[in-house]
Formats: sequence, C-alpha cells, structure tokens
Amino acid sequence: MDFKKLSVFLENNGLPAFRLKQVRDAVYKNFAASWDDIPVLPVPLREKLKSEFRIHAVEPLETLVSKKGDAIKFCFELKDGLKIETVLLKLLPEKWSLCVSTQAGCPVRCPFCATGRKGLKRNLSPDEIADQFLAAAHYLKTTRKHHIGSVIFMGMGEPFLNYDSVAEALRAMADPDLIGLGQRHLSVSTAGHVPGIRRFAKEFPQCNLAISLHAVEDELRNDLVPLNRNYPLSQLAKALKDYILITKRRVFVEYLLLEGVNNSRSQTGRLNAWLRTVAAPKYFVVNLIPYNRTGGPYKAPTRERVKIFAELLEKAGLEVTTRKSLGEDIAGACGQLAGK
Ligand code: SAH
Ligand code: SF4
Repeated sequence: MDFKKLSVFLENNGLPAFRLKQVRDAVYKNFAASWDDIPVLPVPLREKLKSEFRIHAVEPLETLVSKKGDAIKFCFELKDGLKIETVLLKLLPEKWSLCVSTQAGCPVRCPFCATGRKGLKRNLSPDEIADQFLAAAHYLKTTRKHHIGSVIFMGMGEPFLNYDSVAEALRAMADPDLIGLGQRHLSVSTAGHVPGIRRFAKEFPQCNLAISLHAVEDELRNDLVPLNRNYPLSQLAKALKDYILITKRRVFVEYLLLEGVNNSRSQTGRLNAWLRTVAAPKYFVVNLIPYNRTGGPYKAPTRERVKIFAELLEKAGLEVTTRKSLGEDIAGACGQLAGK
C-alpha cells in the first residue's frame, strides 16, 4: 500500500496522525484487505478512503489450490490490467513460504522458462511486490489461520533487473513496524546479474542469495541463461567469491536438470570443480530442480538419473537437496508461471 500517499491524504483532510498508525497496524499486522476490515476507523472515513485508495496494489483474479493442498497459486491483476502470479508453498506442516514475482514477464528469456518466453512487460513497483505478500497473508489467515514464514523472490522476473523496487520491498518485509519477517527469512534468486549480487552483498548481508547456475561452461550457459552473455562465468565466480567474503553466508546454487543437456556424470565433476574455484564446499547448498514441463523441447530426467547426479555431487563433498515439485497440477511450479 502507498503509505506516503495515504499520509498526505490524511494530513490534507485534517485527520490525526494516529489514524495512519491504525491503518498501518491493520494492514501489516492483521492483514486487513479492505477498509471494512478496519473497524476502528469511523464509517465516514472508511467510505471516503474506499473511493480514494485501494489497500493492495494487486487484485486477486483467481486462486488455484493444488490437489494435495500444499501449493496455492494466485493470479493477480495490476492497476494497468497486467497479470502476475504468486505461489504459496507448504514446505512443512503449517510452514508456508511465498514465492513472489518482481517483473511482469522477464527479459532474460531462458528457453526452458514459461515466464521468459513472453519477454518483459514491465518492472513491478515496490508496492506491487510487497502487496503480493499482504494479499496472500490475508488469504492464508482467513482460510486456514496459518501465516507465512518466509519469502522467496523466485516468481516471474529477474529480481536484480528491478533492483530498487526489490530492495524497497525487502526492507518492508524485514521492517518490524511493517511485515517484520527478518532478513534471514528472505531469499532472492538471480540468474546471475553481477552488479545486483555486489549491491545485495552490501545492502542485505543477512538475506539469502540463490543463484540459478544450470551450467558451468559459457557456451552452454549462454544458451540456457542468456544473461550469461553479459556476465560470463568468470565474472560470476568473482562476484560470488566476494559475496561470500563479505557476508560469510552460504549460497544456494540452483541447478535445473535437463535430460541430455546438463546432467551427465562429467558435468557433476565440472560443477564441483567450478564451485571450488569460488569457495569451499561448505559455502554451498546445491538445489537440484528437475525440469517442469513448459511446452519447450526439453525433457526431465528420470528419478534414477536425478539420484545419480545428486549422489555424485555428495561424494564430492557438497550438500545437495532435490526440489520437490509442488503445484505442477496448477502450473505453479518453478518456471511455469506465465501470468496469462
Ligand atoms: N529469474 C530468477 C528468479 C525466477 S526463476 C532466476 O532465474 O533465478 C526461478 C527458478 O525457476 C530459477 O532457478 C529457474 O531457472 C527455474 N526454472 C525456470 N523454468 C523452469 C522449469 N521449466 N522447470 C524447473 N525450473 C525452472
Ligand atoms: Fe527470467 Fe528466471 Fe525465467 Fe530465466 S528462469 S527467463 S531469468 S524468470
């Protein structure tokens, strides 16, 4: 919600400053989604506000729940009619994580990703990012009495190509007077935007960084993650090295598995060797993501092949997790967000 605009409005209408705090607490602490959800405000003021302000900059159009109930996808409409998607994932019982979008579409155009296929429509504003949280928190509170424990910036878009808005949304999420999640519960996933990684290390040293690596040979990575043409692997390695030196934090390495493209035995060896040029294995958690279908030419590896890939990396001394694919039946899994 646009608090600056609201405070100007209240001031211009001669209303006391405590009203602003009442609204802020109702929206950020109790997840009020409409002015009528804030009964402490007098009715005439609520009516006036209804005609002037929307509480959330995103409006839910459709909410899909996966068969198992562990993934919930929201399709939100923005003020200019564009659509974005946001996914709630239940990682443990009553432990929900929210995957937020940072751009409508994405200019990076990774060939396996449904978001990238459409190109960039526009960057999201800080409110459009933070309000995905507020709207999803309202839904979870009213339907299940649960709350969101962590946020991952891993929905539509490349977060570091919209750095300033992402930074403001992160601050709102970490601020104890606003969402108050704490930096350690916030993670940003980048396709390898080097200047963004460098700024993030300085400005958000306690947040988590995930990097979508997918290949450690420039030729292959240029095809899979075209941003690699701007920031090749040598530059990325240096930025990650500095990130680890500054923050002393582990980096989450996302590695998408595409059958016959990047999942051979020799590629596990090269991945391990590349990571060791950056830092010791204890500084990485490799997260394997089996390909989710998006209509492209790629194939997912079998479970057996994923297991072999994981075991080889583990033998090399790396910590490895394999991403459970939640929400594939509602096209809410990694890479499937298209926003229509
Ligand atoms: N743009 C950022 C964050 C959003 S993409 C980034 O690329 O990191 C989120 C994750 O989903 C990335 O790791 C991406 O590589 C992965 N992904 C994209 N398409 C996928 C697909 N079809 N199957 C599985 N993962 C996919
Ligand atoms: Fe953009 Fe990430 Fe999709 Fe690549 S994987 S197109 S960077 S959203």
